[in-house]
Amino acid sequence: MSEPAPPVLEVENLTKRFPIHAGLFSRVVGHVHAVDGISFAIRRGETLGLVGESGCGKSTAGKTILKLIEPTSGSIRLNGRDITRFGSGEMRPVRRQMQIIFQDPYSSLNPRMSAGEIVREPLTIHGISEAAESHERVAMLFERVGLQPHQMKAFPHEFSGGQRQRIGIARALAADPQLIIGDEPVSALDVSIQAQVINLLTELQDDLDLSYLFIAHDLTVVEHISHRIAVMYLGRIVELAGTDDLFDTPLHPYTVALLSAVPIANPKNRSRQRLLLSGDVPSPVTPPSGCHFHTRCPYAMRRCREEQPVLHQVGGDHWVSCHLHDAGPVHPLPSVDPVPGSSGAGVSASRAAGDPAGP
Ligand code: SF4
Repeated sequence: MSEPAPPVLEVENLTKRFPIHAGLFSRVVGHVHAVDGISFAIRRGETLGLVGESGCGKSTAGKTILKLIEPTSGSIRLNGRDITRFGSGEMRPVRRQMQIIFQDPYSSLNPRMSAGEIVREPLTIHGISEAAESHERVAMLFERVGLQPHQMKAFPHEFSGGQRQRIGIARALAADPQLIIGDEPVSALDVSIQAQVINLLTELQDDLDLSYLFIAHDLTVVEHISHRIAVMYLGRIVELAGTDDLFDTPLHPYTVALLSAVPIANPKNRSRQRLLLSGDVPSPVTPPSGCHFHTRCPYAMRRCREEQPVLHQVGGDHWVSCHLHDAGPVHPLPSVDPVPGSSGAGVSASRAAGDPAGP
């Protein structure tokens, strides 16, 4: 049996807090707990999907890993090298190995530069090739992402949304990276174009043995590209598993709720457990104590408000952070009463968990 590929990226207990300043002397009066101790690894040639609602910290996690934002604590290792405290000079050669594709292909491309200049820029920054050679290389990159070399002279406004994202992908590939972080790279595109861009990313991964951290709020998007998926809620990873495993056997109530929002392709197949959430995502300035999800979880117990659950392995490569599964995986979750006026199951699960001290 072949050895598993070594990790390209290892993130351990990564935390990012943003201070909140107020008053005449701009004192620190609190913190936004954007990323709250996340850990995972990505192997060579693997895609890890990072999914969660808006404001859960997934984009901040991506930018912190790239060190576009300095982490508050924790560690980031790239190919076994700890880069957490690297300064800008030390980061320069490392940046070649880690690139990003942004959500909005229009605002992320300089409108005053031609598409060719945009893709060539990383070659110049990293001193990768001379002018004549770089022209050929950029032309090759254009063809590789499904654009025509004659389009190198055109400006971003002359391209469609999907084509602009292809320019963003060509630019990310220019420096020959090992890891690409896609920050909602297809969210701004039409559904038919999303599929084309995802197929392109998959082909590039197969050809170039790339690793991806693919950030999205939509589980159906990450399903098609990810080998494994990490689900984030209010700065923490609450479940991490292989894609099929996560879709077939979701264990965390939040994952079950996210999957409940995914339309089922075959209406006859109604076997998926359904859970509708009530309430809004709490503020990351004052996240709930214990399990951050307890204010919306229909299974919350007294312990959930007092004790933070730990992300632990429950079999194979399936990890979950929930007191319901501390003694082993429970699947499916106990049924709960339907929310009045809704068509699905939801709320008041403290009853299901047999504890009268729910929220
Ligand atoms: Fe969190 Fe408790 Fe619900 Fe598990 S059962 S998700 S620990 S509130």
